[in-house]
Amino acid sequence: ILTINHVKKSYDTLEVLKDISLTVRKGEVVVVVGPSGCGKSTLLRCINGLESIQQGEISLRGEVISGRSKEMHLVRQKIGMVFQSYELFPHMNILDNITLGPIKAQHRSRAEAEEEAKKLLERVGLLEKKDAYPRQLSGGQKQRVAIVRALCMHPEVMLFDEVTAALDPEMVREVLDVMLELAREGSTMIIVTHEMQFARAIADRVLFLDKGEVVEESTPEEFFVNPRTERAQKFLNVFE
Ligand code: ATP
Ligand code: MG
Repeated sequence: ILTINHVKKSYDTLEVLKDISLTVRKGEVVVVVGPSGCGKSTLLRCINGLESIQQGEISLRGEVISGRSKEMHLVRQKIGMVFQSYELFPHMNILDNITLGPIKAQHRSRAEAEEEAKKLLERVGLLEKKDAYPRQLSGGQKQRVAIVRALCMHPEVMLFDEVTAALDPEMVREVLDVMLELAREGSTMIIVTHEMQFARAIADRVLFLDKGEVVEESTPEEFFVNPRTERAQKFLNVFE
């Protein structure tokens, strides 16, 4: 469903993604791991068009989305992203945060968008917070709202960038559980995480990035039990 073909990305003279190729099939969960600064966030940001790329091509269902035209903008709505820092609008209540995109960008009716938003909130156990403001929620609650907000746009692919990294340990589980459920339901996802147990549990495939290159691409069993490269072994040792 998503194809990344020989993508290169630099910030000025700093080459951050060196020649990344990756194909994600419908319903597949790809987990991206690697040391700090290796380009994980940059890769996700390139996929959803927050960053432009210098070479290569990214396409969704065969349509190129790595350019700047208006049509690409529309296709890009089909890619949802959740960030470490939630990025909720502080001056809007939870329901408005979730329905803004569906109403403004997808021109859906308020009634229909709110109906769906409430259903999704109910699923993650937060319906009672629909009229609250982000500052009245815990980190784990905010992050579940951020996931619901992305889902309400009906994305074909969901991107998650270290969504539990800013959370207190007791709130990590509630967010990871929502992601596990999405995976079970067949959502297509690319997940950047430092939660190695979770990575192993949720991944269909693991991508190990180092210095802007894909160093290993394997099943979670292979990667976590028998990493092929010394770089991956060293990286994994830190988590033991
Ligand atoms: P972390 O695990 O710490 O989140 P990461 O793998 O997500 O790291 P990136 O954020 O993708 O790493 O950054 C990759 C490299 O690009 C780093 O060297 C970083 O300093 C650099 N970089 C990221 N964003 C920018 C920017 N907007 N301008 C210039 N350099 C940037
Ligand atoms: Mg990052």
